[in-house]
Amino acid sequence: MTRTAITNATIVTVDSHDTVIHGGTIVIADDTVAEVLPAGAQPATPCDHTVDAAGGIVMPGLVNAHTHLAMTAFRGFADDVDLQDFLGKLFPAEATIMSDRHVRVGVRAAFAEAMLSGCTSALDMYWYANASQDEAAKAGFRLQTGPIFIGSDGPDNVAFDQRVANAKASSPHSWILAHGTYTMDPTQLAVVGELATAEGARFHIHASENAGEVADVTQRYGRTPVELLDDNGLLRFGSVLAHAVVLSDTEIARLAATNTAIAHCPSSNMKLASGFCRVPELLAAGVTVGLGTDGPSSSNDLDMFAAMRVAALIHKGNRLDPTAVPAGAVLRMATMGSATALGIDHLVGSIEVGKKADLVRLDPNSPSLTPSYEPMSTIVYAASRADVLDVWINGQQVVHERRCMTLDLDGVLEDLRNEGRMIAG
Ligand SMILES: [Zn+2]
Repeated sequence: MTRTAITNATIVTVDSHDTVIHGGTIVIADDTVAEVLPAGAQPATPCDHTVDAAGGIVMPGLVNAHTHLAMTAFRGFADDVDLQDFLGKLFPAEATIMSDRHVRVGVRAAFAEAMLSGCTSALDMYWYANASQDEAAKAGFRLQTGPIFIGSDGPDNVAFDQRVANAKASSPHSWILAHGTYTMDPTQLAVVGELATAEGARFHIHASENAGEVADVTQRYGRTPVELLDDNGLLRFGSVLAHAVVLSDTEIARLAATNTAIAHCPSSNMKLASGFCRVPELLAAGVTVGLGTDGPSSSNDLDMFAAMRVAALIHKGNRLDPTAVPAGAVLRMATMGSATALGIDHLVGSIEVGKKADLVRLDPNSPSLTPSYEPMSTIVYAASRADVLDVWINGQQVVHERRCMTLDLDGVLEDLRNEGRMIAG
């Protein structure tokens, strides 16, 4: 067993008491957090390696609750447009290049960007999910994903019925993903819902992202996106709705009553001018809220520190209330909230004995983090991904002093540039 001690750390645990330990030590034994010790306490067993955190912050790995990782290839492809114009430009372009190979190139770049940014897990919705899962295993990234469904043939040119048959043939799946209630009809939604139930899978879908989507779906089917999901039994524990910007009080109550989780994507919501998710009301109602970046084409990055900052700021500005969505709530959203939404909160999301060692160490000598009176505030209001020094996933050090250890970054980026050239034509 390999044991690593991270000593002299300001440990921001995000445990149930938001405990912060100054001058503490974390012992990683293989893939697990074996000890979390206060200042002065010594590990029970000698360690093979010691990392001196020099008083700097060590925090849980950030968990991205909604993204489309392989869209790194489409970063900056459709800016300064709303959701409908974004998809109108994106869908045809994706169809010209979509392949297993394209997805592998895109996700490798995404894993590098995410890990260098302190993100250790993600829920990913995209084509060729098997390819992404395969690349995640090689990169050492904790990925949650599964087959995705859409009403049309999709950029990978697979008809809906064939997609269902393929998913059944490749069972079991821990996730079933659907694009949205505006890109599939209620009959198709019911089929996908039944598949998720039969698989015992968690379910993820875009829902009520902007007023245009809700008006469109309501006009077509006489029901809002959230009501359609409710009709199909898809508001339930294990369901994650991305965005959920346009919600009525009744819908928020239903989300709470059914234990449905939300993936809040504030950067994407602001960039696409979708509106302000009602996060204060969702949290007050007891809804599980995770934090996501959305894809790097609509946000335009995989920067969870930026997502935290945006989430912490926009609700205050929107409500003219400086207490709206405080720093601790935002950090919890990006760690335990997302982990709970993804069903991996027993493994990650906080620094506690017995959990997997998904850890992020920030630079103790960063001017932007000095001084730090309240470490959780420092993380949300002052830290950026440039402050991420070391990252561990499952006890494996994937970032060492700002270098990606599990991917050949030069090669990854050269491949991504080639995709960009092909997309640009
Ligand atoms: Zn999305």
